[in-house]
Amino acid sequence: MSRHDRILFAGDPHGNFKPLIAAVHKHRPEAVVLLGDYDLDLPLDICLQDIIGLTEIWWIAGNHDFETPGKYKNLFHSALADKCLHLRVADIAGLRIAGLGGIFLGRVWYPPQPPKWRNKQHYLYQQPPHVKNAELSLKYQSAIWHDEFEILKKLKADILVSHEAPGSHRHGFSVIGDLAAAMGAKHIFHGHLHENYARTIKNNIHVFGVANMAVTDLLGNTLSEP
Ligand SMILES: [Zn+2]
Repeated sequence: MSRHDRILFAGDPHGNFKPLIAAVHKHRPEAVVLLGDYDLDLPLDICLQDIIGLTEIWWIAGNHDFETPGKYKNLFHSALADKCLHLRVADIAGLRIAGLGGIFLGRVWYPPQPPKWRNKQHYLYQQPPHVKNAELSLKYQSAIWHDEFEILKKLKADILVSHEAPGSHRHGFSVIGDLAAAMGAKHIFHGHLHENYARTIKNNIHVFGVANMAVTDLLGNTLSEP
């Protein structure tokens, strides 16, 4: 039960799932958690068909997954759609894992600046009539919204996975560390910045950056690289 490779974390695949598939065959984890930016030409379940049934597959979205309607559909409408961890906590291989997908966008909320909108309804209400009744554009759907972030903060978790980095990275955001602290999480795994590293931030939270196409275990050991 205490195997450190019972859960694996996969950094931005950008279309290459081979390192993750190889790591699953080698380590036989109970679960894998994908950290976003898939660039899917095919549905996610098709890209991962070699390991479906071998392990639980969980994911959060990255900014690239909202770039085109095709990439979006191949993720959010795939057979793994219900394994999205964004804004929720799931019990995965005996640990509570919380997810925060997407990115901070200047036109929505770019911490430490205050949020531009209270919530999605507030934003849509302020738009001209032809936009008002439309669905939120993919760009706005890729954003981290302040009100949803605050709701996530009230939940409890052991691990937080995010696409954006916390303040451990020069391109990170300290509010993500604050989120983990509020949730009681002692570990953060993130993608997006294509860098493998380990760092400790305030509240003794251990942060692991997972590079593009890299796979790490619960201790942040890099198991597989392209
Ligand atoms: Zn990204």
